[in-house]
Amino acid sequence: MIPFSGALTNTEHWQRQLAKSFRSPRALLEHLELAHLWHPRMEEAAAAFPLRVTHYFADLMKKGDPEDPLLLQVLPSVGELEVEPSYSEDPTGDGPARAGPGVLRKYHGRALVIATGSCAVHCRYCFRRHYPYQENRPDARDWSDVVESLAVDPTLSEAILSGGDPLALADSRLQGLVDGLARLPHLRRLRIHTRLPVVLPQRIGTGLVRLLAGSRLKCTLVLHANHPTEVTTTLAAALAPLRRAGVTLLNQAVLLKKINDRLDVQTELYEKLFDIGVLPYYLHQLDKVSGAARFEVSNNHAKALYEEMRKQLPGYLLPRLVEERAGAASKLPL
Ligand SMILES: *Cc1c(COP(=O)(O)O)cnc(C)c1O
Ligand code: SF4
Repeated sequence: MIPFSGALTNTEHWQRQLAKSFRSPRALLEHLELAHLWHPRMEEAAAAFPLRVTHYFADLMKKGDPEDPLLLQVLPSVGELEVEPSYSEDPTGDGPARAGPGVLRKYHGRALVIATGSCAVHCRYCFRRHYPYQENRPDARDWSDVVESLAVDPTLSEAILSGGDPLALADSRLQGLVDGLARLPHLRRLRIHTRLPVVLPQRIGTGLVRLLAGSRLKCTLVLHANHPTEVTTTLAAALAPLRRAGVTLLNQAVLLKKINDRLDVQTELYEKLFDIGVLPYYLHQLDKVSGAARFEVSNNHAKALYEEMRKQLPGYLLPRLVEERAGAASKLPL
């Protein structure tokens, strides 16, 4: 028998790390020697969408720096409580795209599975921050409702696991879903959209590598890193076994004001990602979700920045700059 203890220890380890995450603005700010930034209304913003960040990710932040680009992505702000007229709860039209519990259908040949509502980090700009996960939960015991909704459409060739973060699921749960999907003869590809390895590289244990490498479906992992500081040697080491197992590694980022809206930050992000075997996929213009207005970069600035990036980067290190419009047949070039 193949000893399974390595994978089990690993699973327990990352789950313990997750359980120890920061869950309050006060605790995070104290850890970063920024206790003076705390404000009672921050807790109000956190009540609407809780703060959540791993110790690993918090340790990449610079102590004493209120403008740290990683901190700005996760720290609740009082501004989130203000109403912005052009911002809404569902800017990407996820509601009308529901095609069964936990399944969204927007584009030809691809179905997106909201495998879980959980994440290892809560990004303040998240376009699904108001998504009603509880009302649309698939049955994770056997995933039969998800598999059935994908079974009836032979035009599908790819299943995309999203969320939330699909890697917040334990390997055993994930295995059930991947096996169920692999039994559908028309599916060829499996894609996993995840930020988990970026905020907790320990998540990639032998169990997960075996699961993805062992599937009949050709696997792609689309990471979500926004800033070069997020691309570490720890992440590189965690991804290496996935690369060796033939998993395609891509990255999507969101264009965020004061975080990565500068040429040097963007180019360094893609240089560092390439160093660790990850190619850029999308650079998303912000989805106008209520509470995220402070992250908006104007379309004019985005386009000017992108033209500069085009001059600096080889074509294969240039992500596609896109926006999502509710009801469109694909993500749209800006
Ligand atoms: C973004 C998205 C996809 C994936 O689109 P690609 O362009 O293939 O990356 C698929 N389904 C839904 C519902 C999406 O929002
Ligand atoms: S990890 Fe992804 S789904 Fe989760 S909060 Fe961040 S952007 Fe949203």
